[in-house]
Amino acid sequence: MAIYDLKCENCGLEFEKFTTGFLTEDDKECPQCKSVNVKQVYSGSFGIGSSCYGSYGGGGYS
Ligand SMILES: [Zn+2]
Repeated sequence: MAIYDLKCENCGLEFEKFTTGFLTEDDKECPQCKSVNVKQVYSGSFGIGSSCYGSYGGGGYS
């Protein structure tokens, strides 16, 4: 069992697909607009989520 995160490039809908194996082309269809312009989203922890908002150098001039 595998869960794939998919996103429709046509309407922007993000949805999940459950399969017992590999994702097939038939699975890459938007449930909302039926577009096949769907790409797989890799739910890794890249970029987003890393809190790099430092609050250093907070003023103090003049
Ligand atoms: Zn769509």
